[in-house]
This record gives sequence, structure tokens and C-alpha cells, in this order.
Amino acid sequence: MNFKEHLDQNEIFSKVAKAAENLGLETYVVGGYVRDLILGRVNKDLDFTCVGSGIALAEEVAKQFEYHVPLSVFKNFGTAMLQLEDSELEFVGARKESYRLESRKPIVENGTLEEDLERRDFTINAMAISLNKENYGDLLDPYDGVGDIKRKLIKTPTDPEVTFSDDPLRMMRAVRFASQLNFDIDADTFFALTKNASRLKIISAERIIVELNKIILCDKPSYGFKLLFAGKLLHEFFPEMVELQGVDSVDDKSHKDNFYHTLQVLDNVCQVSDSLWLRWAAIMHDIAKPATKRFNAKAGWTFHGHEDKGARMTPGIFKRLKLPMDERMKYVQKLVRLHLRPIALVKDEVTDSALRRLLFDAGDDIEDLMKLCRADITSKNNKKVKRYLENFDKVEQKLQEVEEKDQVRNFQPPISGEEIMETFDLSPSKIVGEIKEEIKEAILEGKIHNSPEEARRLMLEIAESKGISTKTKS
Ligand code: ATP
Repeated sequence: MNFKEHLDQNEIFSKVAKAAENLGLETYVVGGYVRDLILGRVNKDLDFTCVGSGIALAEEVAKQFEYHVPLSVFKNFGTAMLQLEDSELEFVGARKESYRLESRKPIVENGTLEEDLERRDFTINAMAISLNKENYGDLLDPYDGVGDIKRKLIKTPTDPEVTFSDDPLRMMRAVRFASQLNFDIDADTFFALTKNASRLKIISAERIIVELNKIILCDKPSYGFKLLFAGKLLHEFFPEMVELQGVDSVDDKSHKDNFYHTLQVLDNVCQVSDSLWLRWAAIMHDIAKPATKRFNAKAGWTFHGHEDKGARMTPGIFKRLKLPMDERMKYVQKLVRLHLRPIALVKDEVTDSALRRLLFDAGDDIEDLMKLCRADITSKNNKKVKRYLENFDKVEQKLQEVEEKDQVRNFQPPISGEEIMETFDLSPSKIVGEIKEEIKEAILEGKIHNSPEEARRLMLEIAESKGISTKTKS
């Protein structure tokens, strides 16, 4: 690959090179950008390393851009950033790092380019392209990163035991890069990862989840999860998922392995959606199966109530993993709770009120719920899969018909609490809620239509049966 040609096509490089020359600083493009260039992937983040002050270099580069680009300086970290329209340039001085056992915060000193590349996590990330006059465009690849890209290998530049023990987050990154690039992890590197897995304890949940979410956003996250499981990293931060693995047998009756089933559901969802949170719903949908597992001679293995228990487990798991505790958690929780409901609607004799109830409970998430349900069909028997999918087609058809008729999906009670209080001269109280609830139930049951007139009539009837009279106006 001709890197000089690539540099010549982009004025950023000539500007950085000019600034470096003005200051007499040895300067390189490093890390992810170089890796992705070789891989043919687009990377908008450019990292520049110079032997000297990264901040001074960034200031000089800003001058080359005639100060038209915003510059942020992070004195404490010795780094600076220039925000261009569609890319971000980061500048840092070459550094050498040494670690103490109890922390992942290294002692940082100024270093040479070689020392800077040596401290990087993987050979594919430890390459640099020179911006210096004497060897402009030359690739510096001391650990054969190009070879590992060809071999599709994630490998540490130096002793993997030390690399992972120094900064255990790198083990998560190894799995993340393997999943994103569909690479293998080199055998020695993976062995060291397995040995050091328990060191993940010193890494904050916030940093772990960044990597985990990147794995989940891959095309086929099952691969990453299998690596996390095999390397015993998953055991460190997500034991509930590890618990899903395994098959029990009694009297020749066994259940499916819920870990591999969950991964299959996750991969299936990924084929139809990029949404991180729908993917999380797939991960969580059977999470309470181990806790609800029972064996019964007649019925075999059962997991009664796993959907409710799973929904109840969701906030605790989200909180511990430092996932958001807002409406995104609620969405995942809702999908976990409802994931068996569409199956119950497959029967021919299903009532409109059952359909209305699901539409009401799922609201705008009904389409995602159906995606999850379809993904949940993981039988190896293609005929069965086809039949189940056709059943869901029918359910969706029925849901659509009921929604067109009754519009309960975004159900807003046609009578507000205010109106009830006003009509009967009531102050806020339990009875107001009860009247509202009865009206809602009557609509969902199909006893009345979802209209204000019918609801008002019913409100008067309910009140009368409760011995409440309307306000008598004087
Ligand atoms: P992406 O942009 O896809 O996240 P990246 O490789 O650019 O990938 P960054 O986290 O931006 O990832 O890191 C930039 C570079 O810094 C990496 O290519 C690698 O050389 C180095 N690096 C990042 N994190 C570590 C780490 N924990 N240990 C060693 N080197 C690291």
C-alpha cells in the first residue's frame, strides 16, 4: 500500500507535517487510523504522536488552519484536540508507561516513538506512519501488525501476561476488536486473557460497558459473547448470563441450553435491527430461566414466570452494569415482561380483548416486541420455524385490524381524573382512580368503544352504582 499517496490526498496531513517541521518535532499518525486505513475502513478520528509536546504541536496546527478550527487543550493529560468539520484530530507527545499491580493508572513519562508503540494494546494498533521529511509516508510496524491483519489475528505486541495484567481493560478490547473485525485471538494472547480474567475487577463498570456495548453492536455479537464466556471475562461482570449455560436432564428429558439460545436470538435480532436496546432485550429475555427452572414428571422442564422475574431482575442488572436507568431500561424491561404474550395470541379463538390488552401494554413498542418474538424462534427444524413465523404473521394481522378499529395502542383515557372530580365534586382520592380504571377496563374488554361519549355514560353508571351523585349546580 502506498501511504504517501494517501497522505497527499488529504490536506490535514500536509498541514500537520508543516506544523511539525516548523517546531522541529518528529511526528507520526498512529493507532486506530493506521489500522483502519490498512483494513480499508473509514476512521474519522486521527491520532498524532510527536516526540515532544503534543499541545504545542496542536497549537501550531491550529495556526496552519488559520485558527478556523476549535482547539481544546487537556493540560492534565498533555493532550489537545482539534475539531474539524467531519473529523477529530488528537495530539499527544510520545510516552512510556509503567504500571503498579494495584491500579490500572500507569506512571507516564515522555518517551520515544518506539516506546509509545510498545505500550499499545495490540500489534494491529501499534503502527505509525511518518510525517517527517526524511521518511514521509513510511509505515513503522515494529510488531508486524500488517502480518496480523493478513492473518486476522488479535495479538499483543509484547508479553500478553504483562499487557493484560497492566491494564485489564485490554482483555475486553481484545474481544471487542475480534468481534468487530471477525478476527481470531492469538492462542498465547487468549491463554493470558483467561489467566488474567479475574483482574477485570479493578476496571470500572463504566469502562467495561463501553466495550460490551461495542460488542453488542457488531453484526454477529454471539462471537464476542462466546469469547467472553470462554475467557471467563463474562463471569466477572455478568454472572446471570453465565448461569444460562448448561443443559439439565432428568428421565431422558432435557431442556435447551439457554445461553446459546439467547445468543442465537441476539444474532437474529441483529439481522433486523441496529438498536442497542432491542439487542439488550434479546440478551435479557430469558435471564430468569435459571431462577425459575423446575422439573415436573408430567410437563418436563418448566420456567414458569421467567418473563416477570426477568423484568424484575432488569433494573438491578442495568444498575450494576452502569447502563442507563431511564426509559431505555424501562423499554428493555417491558419487552422482557411481554415476550411470551404474542405466542398466546396464536390460537384461532383469540379474543379481541386479548389483542387490545397487548396493544395497550406494548404501546409503540409493539413492532419491536414482534421482532423479538420472531427472533426467539430458534428451532433447527425449518418446517417448524416456517409454521411459527406464519403464526406470527397472523397475530400481526389481527393486531393491525384491532388497532385500526379501536386505536388502543396509544391509549389515552377518554375521561381524565379532573373531569371525574369536577363532575362529582370529588377531591383527589382513591375512588377517582377506581372509576378511571373501570372505564379503561371496559374499553379494553370491548364493553364500550374508545370514545368520550360512551366513556362519560359509563362513568355516570359506575358512580351511581357506587352511590355517588353528580354535583348539583346552584
Ligand atoms: P475505535 O475508534 O474503534 O474505538 P481505536 O483503536 O481508535 O478504535 P481508541 O480507544 O480510540 O481505539 O484508541 C486509540 C489507540 O490508542 C488504539 O489504537 C491503541 O493503539 C491505543 N490504546 C487505546 N486504549 C488502549 C489501552 N487500554 N492500552 C493500550 N493501548 C491503547
